[in-house]
Amino acid sequence: MSGSSTVAVHADRDVHPSRAVAPPIYQTAAFWAEDADQFARAAVDRRGKDFYTRYGNPNHAQVAAVIAELEHTEAAMVTASGMAALTTAVLALVSAGDHVIGQRSTYGGTASVLLNLLPRLGVSTTQVDQTDPAAFEKALTPQTRLLLVESPSNPLLQVTDLRAVSELARAHGVLTMADNTFATPLNQRPADLGIDLVWHSATKYLNGHSDVSAGVIAGPEALLGRIWDVALLTGATLGPFDAWLLLRGLRTLPLRMSRHNANGQALAGALNDHPAVARVHYPGLATHPQRALAHSQMSGCGGVLAVELTGGFAAADAFLGRLRYARRSASLGGVESLAVHPAAMWRGMLSDEQIAASGVAQGLVRLAAGTEDTADLVADVLAAADAVASWKELTR
Ligand SMILES: *Cc1c(COP(=O)(O)O)cnc(C)c1O
Repeated sequence: MSGSSTVAVHADRDVHPSRAVAPPIYQTAAFWAEDADQFARAAVDRRGKDFYTRYGNPNHAQVAAVIAELEHTEAAMVTASGMAALTTAVLALVSAGDHVIGQRSTYGGTASVLLNLLPRLGVSTTQVDQTDPAAFEKALTPQTRLLLVESPSNPLLQVTDLRAVSELARAHGVLTMADNTFATPLNQRPADLGIDLVWHSATKYLNGHSDVSAGVIAGPEALLGRIWDVALLTGATLGPFDAWLLLRGLRTLPLRMSRHNANGQALAGALNDHPAVARVHYPGLATHPQRALAHSQMSGCGGVLAVELTGGFAAADAFLGRLRYARRSASLGGVESLAVHPAAMWRGMLSDEQIAASGVAQGLVRLAAGTEDTADLVADVLAAADAVASWKELTR
């Protein structure tokens, strides 16, 4: 089997319908047929690529071919965003009366699906502490159909034991679906650890240039067929040009991830002992409580880390204000460093009690290291942390 960098460049060869070195953009809503027979065949071709773009498009098929090979799954499909991937899959896999288990530390949109959307549709949900594999077992009921995991989690970088969770689920005939956005298939392949379905916000690392909203789902053909049937109805179709941009981003994913991994590790190490910092959450640190588990299922820890400033909300805000490179933004995974202060972002949505219940401290900053030079990023975060430390001295 070829290496990941080769796969990212060549895995879509068989779905290239032209001789152009760079694939054309099939910016079309529909395709025409030669005759009635061909038309009838195209209409029932699941995830086919030349009937109607909501059903499929060559640009979709090219992305899917690369994702499936990178994730070591039988197949893959694309959606208009990460959230479209999640909601389409969940709508396909569960029905009223079923039960879904998710994590307590999880992406905000996923938490909202568990807390609001699914209960409204008659699907009960439980969120568990994912650092404890036994918590998943305790939450199982005879109605449980799906386990939704995310590792490392956003924004606390908590690690889920993917082998333990998939073994448990298999033993009980329950499906598993893992959000692999933070790790990417370069650092972790959930399917190799027994997870049934892998999904991504391709808006983040997979595209990597902060210029596309997209999602992907990878897994066995049979499950993807069920999800695709629902995708036709939800209609969260990725535009052909966005699929083309995503494919272009994927070509350099392996190159970019090695720099993101190095930068994340360097920033975490540099800030870990700083007097302005109470704690750094990053699974690549020797001090991370789940270091051994992370090491057993990941080959790199990515560019995202969470830094808890000792001075609380004001210190986090001052730290972000002093950063030269990482600007305040809710996204991550692009070539440019970005940073977010969750307690500030959530001020208009959640009470202080709700923020505390999510485990996120008022002084927590999520840093997403881009692909800039490591030394520049390290110097920048240390200067900002020094400024916050001396500012605290002055205001004491
Ligand atoms: C951003 C993100 C999502 C949502 O993806 P969108 O593309 O914004 O819909 C899901 N999971 C994680 C971990 C994310 O960071």
